[in-house]
Amino acid sequence: MTGILYVVATPIGNLDDISRRATQVLAQVARIAAEDTRHSARLLQHLGINTPLVAVHDHNEAGRVQSLIAQLVAGDSLALISDAGTPLISDPGFRLVAAAHEANIQVVPVVGACAAIGALSAAGLPSDRFTFEGFLSAKTTARQTQLRALLHETRTLIFYEAPHRILECVQDMCLVFGGDRRVVLARELTKTFETVRQMTLAELSAWVEQDSNQQRGEIVLVLEGAAENASLAAEAEIDALLLKLLKYLPVKQTAQLAAELTGHKKNALYDRALLLQK
Ligand code: SAM
Repeated sequence: MTGILYVVATPIGNLDDISRRATQVLAQVARIAAEDTRHSARLLQHLGINTPLVAVHDHNEAGRVQSLIAQLVAGDSLALISDAGTPLISDPGFRLVAAAHEANIQVVPVVGACAAIGALSAAGLPSDRFTFEGFLSAKTTARQTQLRALLHETRTLIFYEAPHRILECVQDMCLVFGGDRRVVLARELTKTFETVRQMTLAELSAWVEQDSNQQRGEIVLVLEGAAENASLAAEAEIDALLLKLLKYLPVKQTAQLAAELTGHKKNALYDRALLLQK
């Protein structure tokens, strides 16, 4: 019998958010693979659990996977945890889970806290369809390009952001999406200074700029998607731009220039330009 790989969510602040099932699993497995063993040791101590910990983080995951899979194949069950929330959600663990599937190991999620889902559930923005974008680039130009590529996304958008970049990030969102879109700042969820506020991007930018407390702690931004008809209008606008460029340039340069101007993917614009040319 092979062991089971449990992917266990841990709290994102309030320790009472650990589930009874998560506690039982962490106590019963042979070993816990943790992103930062010192950090997780504190959680285990709080829970009165002394299961051995092994470090699995972005820098050693590739090297550790083989031995962890060997232990699972030999019959030991393991738990995977990250510093906070659900493993693999902007956290390590993907290689281990993928390797477990390849080795026909049963993978069991032990569900619990996730900052993105917590923020969405309290945001009051459409939640029937959404896209999780994780962290944007730390570099301004790359971040603005990423945001431009999302300009016509109609689903609600969820971003993680570091406190020291929140102001720049919101300012870039204002620049790309305009100041009128609704956005929710979900900060320090489940903790003492928990803040969940919905407003426009322009209002958020002004608030974060004047109140430095809003530039502290852990932050999720939930952004309203583009209006449906805006995305149709945008497609028509792109076609018009491509047709104009095609009058003067070959397809390849048209796609290149249109990608620079709109932030859309060059390959998709190339295919569309080819079609329009025909
Ligand atoms: N795996 C985690 C999860 O399930 O949410 C996310 C880990 S990621 C490295 C850390 C980021 O998640 C933070 O920078 C912040 O954007 C978000 N985050 C984590 N805890 C949070 C909290 N209590 N309140 C708001 N955002 C939080």
